[in-house]
Amino acid sequence: KSVVMWFRTDLRMQDNRALDQASRLAHHLNVPLVACYLVSPQDFEAHVTSPTRIDFIYRHLELLRDDLDKLDIPLHIVDVPGRAEVPDTVRDLASRWGARHVFANYEYEVDELRRDMKTLDTLHDSKVAFRLAHDTCVVEPGALKTGTGNQYAVYTPWFRTWGRYVSSNPSSLKLAERPKKNHSSARENHGDLFGCTIPELEVGDKWNKDYRDRIRMIWPAGEGEASSRLSKFCDQKISDYAENRNLPSEPNTSSLSPYLAVGSLSSRTCVKYAQDHNTSKKMNSGSTGIDTWISEVAWRDFYRHVMAHWPYVCMNKPFKPEYSNIQWSYDREHFRAWCEGRTGFPIVDAAMRQMNQTGWMHNRCRMIVASFLCKDLLLDWRMGEKYFMENLIDGDFASNNGGWGFSASVGVDPQPYFRIFNPLLQSERFDTDGAYIRNWVPELKNIKGKGIHDPYGRGAEVEAKRRGYPKPLVVHKNSRDRALNMYKSGLGK
Ligand code: FAD
Repeated sequence: KSVVMWFRTDLRMQDNRALDQASRLAHHLNVPLVACYLVSPQDFEAHVTSPTRIDFIYRHLELLRDDLDKLDIPLHIVDVPGRAEVPDTVRDLASRWGARHVFANYEYEVDELRRDMKTLDTLHDSKVAFRLAHDTCVVEPGALKTGTGNQYAVYTPWFRTWGRYVSSNPSSLKLAERPKKNHSSARENHGDLFGCTIPELEVGDKWNKDYRDRIRMIWPAGEGEASSRLSKFCDQKISDYAENRNLPSEPNTSSLSPYLAVGSLSSRTCVKYAQDHNTSKKMNSGSTGIDTWISEVAWRDFYRHVMAHWPYVCMNKPFKPEYSNIQWSYDREHFRAWCEGRTGFPIVDAAMRQMNQTGWMHNRCRMIVASFLCKDLLLDWRMGEKYFMENLIDGDFASNNGGWGFSASVGVDPQPYFRIFNPLLQSERFDTDGAYIRNWVPELKNIKGKGIHDPYGRGAEVEAKRRGYPKPLVVHKNSRDRALNMYKSGLGK
C-alpha cells in the first residue's frame, strides 16, 4: 500500500501543494509516500525542450532524490518512450505500489491537460483517485474575471484585480508544508525504488563538454540555490529594481526564471518573501522596487491565465486571429544571422550571443531581438519562439509564447502593430555606455563612444571591418516601412 506523488514541473520539497497533500494523506492512512517522475523524450521533442533545460531538470532530480531519501521517500524515475503511454504507466505504477491515490500539480498547457484528462479516466477505471492541485500560479487560472465576467486580455486591469485578490485571500500566499518522514517500513516494502539512476544527456553538437560545464557553473541546480538567489536579490537588488531592471549590462534582476521554470522555487514563495522582506527591513525606499518586482512575477501568472483560457495559443496560432494572414518572410540567411548574432546590429548580436552562450537573456534584450526578428527582418515570430525554446534554460511555453506574441503584436497587448522598436535607440537608451555590447561582441570591444551602437553608421567602420564584424542586414527605416505595409495588408487594410 502507498500514496503516490507524481512530480512534473514542480521539482521541490518546499511549498509544493500536491506533495504536501500527498504526504498528509499517506500519514493519515499510515502508508508510505512514494514519488515518481516520468521522462518522456517524445514530450521533450514535441515541446522543443532545450538540452540546457533537460540537463537542468536531471540535475534537479538528483538533488530531489537525495532530499526525499532523507525522509525515507523513494523517487522512482521511469523512461516512457511514447508520451501516449504516460497514463497507462501511471496506472501500472499505482497498481504495483498498491496505491489508491495519485497526487500531482496542474500543468495548464494543452497537451498536459489532455494527458491529465486521459490519466484521470485511466486511473478512475482502476479505482484510483487522481488529485490535482493548483500550485504553479499565485492565483489559479480562471479565478479573476472582468466586471462583465470575462477573462482579461489586458495585463494592467488584470494585475489590479490580481493584487486585490491576493490581499483579500491570504490563502493564496500560504506556503505548503514540507513532506513528513515516511515510516521506516517504506524501506522494507519499497527498498528497490531507492537510489534510482538519474538519466544523462547524450553529448551532441551544442551539448559538448565545454558548453555543459559552463552552463552548470552559471546555473547550479537545486532549491537551496534558488532560495539563496531569492534572498540575495531581495537583500541587495530589489530596492533598485524599478530603476535598474531594464539595464542588461549588470545583474540587476533576480535570475530566478530557470528555477521557476523547473519548479524548484514557487512563485508564491517569491511574492511572499519579497513582501515579508519589505516589512521586516522597513524598506520604505525600496517598496517601489518590491512592488515592481512582484508585478513582474505576476506576468508569469498572467500568461498562464491567458493560455488556460485561450488554449489555441498552444497550437501555433496567434492570440489575435485577425493576424493569421500576415505574409511572413522565411529567409534562411537572415534567420541564421539572427540566431548566430551576426545581424550587424550590436545590441541584437550581443543579446543572441548571451543566450547562445549562457542559456539566458535579459528581458529588455528579449524584447529587442524579438521585435527585430519580426519587424526588421519580417520573419515569422514562430521561428524565433522556437529558437528561444531550443536554447533557453528557462524556456517556458506560456511566458515565451506571451513574450513573442507581445513583441510581434499578435498577442495579448492593447498596443497596435505600429509600435516598432528602433534597435539603435533601444541600444543607446538601455546600454548607453555599450558595456553589454562590448562584453558579448568582442569584435567591438575597442570601439569607444556612440559608434558602439552602430559602428558602420557612426564612424567606427574601419575597426568593425578589421575585426570582421558584419554590416547591418537591413536599414531600420526601410524595414519599418515594409513591416507597416506587411501588417496592414495582412489585416486587409
Ligand atoms: P526578474 O526580472 O527578476 O523577474 C522575476 C520573475 O518574474 C522571472 O523569473 C519570471 O518568472 C517572471 N517574469 C518577469 N518578467 C516576465 C515576463 N515579461 N513574462 C513572464 N514572466 C516574467 N520568461 C521565462 O521564464 N521563460 C521564457 O521562455 C521566456 N521567454 C520570453 C520571450 C520573450 C520574447 C520575452 C519578451 C520575454 C520572455 N520571458 C520568458 C520573460 C522574461 O524575459 C524572463 O522571465 C526574465 O528575463 C527572467 O529573468 P529574471 O528571472 O532575472 O527576471
